[in-house]
Amino acid sequence: MQVTGVRSLLYEHDTSRLLGDVNTPKGRKRHAALVVYLDTNTELTGIGLGTPAARPHIEALTQVLVGRDPRGVRGLWKMMTDAAFKVGVVGPIAAGISVLDMALWDLKAKANEEPLWKTLGAAEPRVRAYASGLDMPLSDEQLQSYYEHMASQGVSAGKLKGGANLDDDLRRIEIMQRALATSGKPVMLMLDVNEHLTPKQAIRHVHTIEDNFDLTWIEEPARRWDSSGLRQISQAVRASVASGENLQNPGEFCSLLDERAVDVVQVGTGTAGLTGSIIVGDMAYGVERPVSGMNSPGSLFAHVAAAMPNHTMLEVLAAGHDALFDINITLADGFLELGNRPGLGIEFDIDRLMEHVVESPSKEAGPSPYGRRHDAGLNP
Ligand SMILES: [Mg+2]
Repeated sequence: MQVTGVRSLLYEHDTSRLLGDVNTPKGRKRHAALVVYLDTNTELTGIGLGTPAARPHIEALTQVLVGRDPRGVRGLWKMMTDAAFKVGVVGPIAAGISVLDMALWDLKAKANEEPLWKTLGAAEPRVRAYASGLDMPLSDEQLQSYYEHMASQGVSAGKLKGGANLDDDLRRIEIMQRALATSGKPVMLMLDVNEHLTPKQAIRHVHTIEDNFDLTWIEEPARRWDSSGLRQISQAVRASVASGENLQNPGEFCSLLDERAVDVVQVGTGTAGLTGSIIVGDMAYGVERPVSGMNSPGSLFAHVAAAMPNHTMLEVLAAGHDALFDINITLADGFLELGNRPGLGIEFDIDRLMEHVVESPSKEAGPSPYGRRHDAGLNP
């Protein structure tokens, strides 16, 4: 079995509701994505999903793979990261490696005629979910109904977007708490401030919240690379500090782990691919830190999360919701249940996909989904 070439498409569509965080408080509805088809000299094709930023590097990175057996995924990942050595596994090149690595894993599992979770060694095809709202643009009423909807599917942990205004955060955490309690299970509360605050500001912010609530984690309370700032926060508050979702390769996690700067290590499809995430997960395992996967198209990261011995909860916006493809992952009783379709289990309705194909992403959709807010990190 050999890789013979690649085809890629950009597509763009509206999401069913506004999504946003402290950087995009009014929210946005346009979503652009890249789909890659990695072809072989058999009837099998691997599918990878990624960001439009990856597209300029797909052809060149695929040349590293052409003629190779796609089942040697980790070795091919090394060849791609070696090819990126001088620029580094960062930015659009890291995004390109990520989407091709996903397509390789999809192919390997398809060649095994089994779902990816099984190829990766998961003992059980299920992963605990937590509800994430990307909810800053939602009114209080919309916020309540979103978390009640997730609670009706057995989800009892939720993560609010905040950091702009302490009074708003206190009021909205209480709304989320009440809504999640309708699950009938013990509730876990998280807050994601998306690098909006300075470390000292984050400590004051979390202290006031902790006067009122038991916060499980505070996410990205300082810049992603600021290991001493993150550790300062972790040591000053009761909540765990979660970070890592915007890092792009395993090496970037070294100081965070060495300095015990993060309590929950976040990985995702963009951590130099599924292979990069697995490596980071093992690094975190070595220092007894739980891993949490970030939101992914159709919650496909559940395949990887299920195989991580130290995975805690997976971020879920709404499983399979808003996707242009079908994936056999369902949310029930607070867990994502993975099906038995070979590979990632992604099936596009090609006619529907072609209706949404674009040459390049629109201004509303790209180039990076959430730019940084002008006043972030400026308040002492
Ligand atoms: Mg986040």
